[in-house]
Amino acid sequence: MSSDCLFCKIVNREIPSEFLFEDDAYVVFKDIHPAAPVHLLLVPKKHIRSINDLTAADSSILSGLFMVARDMAKEQGINESGYKLLFNVEKGGGQEIFHIHLHLIGGWKKK
Ligand code: 5GP
Ligand code: ZN
Repeated sequence: MSSDCLFCKIVNREIPSEFLFEDDAYVVFKDIHPAAPVHLLLVPKKHIRSINDLTAADSSILSGLFMVARDMAKEQGINESGYKLLFNVEKGGGQEIFHIHLHLIGGWKKK
């Protein structure tokens, strides 16, 4: 927990948010500025600043995050149409919230 971290506040329900999924280790909620019809943020409850700060002890958090992504894509009905999974890493990589999170983006109309 980092006291000045927005996502820690969301995880701890200090800022009300609708969770599409929650378990002991993760929460999932909609991005406030969606870049696509489906744009979810998959957030480990543990405060880790970015991919750069992962340690070997965090490897299960990361692998579990991809399982959450797989399940949420199916739940959102975009598993077969396809989707993107994205980590922005540090400022130059577009990261704005320094609490690790995976973007799940998809749901574009078929052409
Ligand atoms: P980053 O750029 O750090 O990878 O992604 C942060 C994401 O969090 C952005 O896509 C931004 O729209 C989203 N975001 C920022 N503040 C809030 C908020 O208060 N609530 C929600 N649901 N999303 C937020
Ligand atoms: Zn945090």
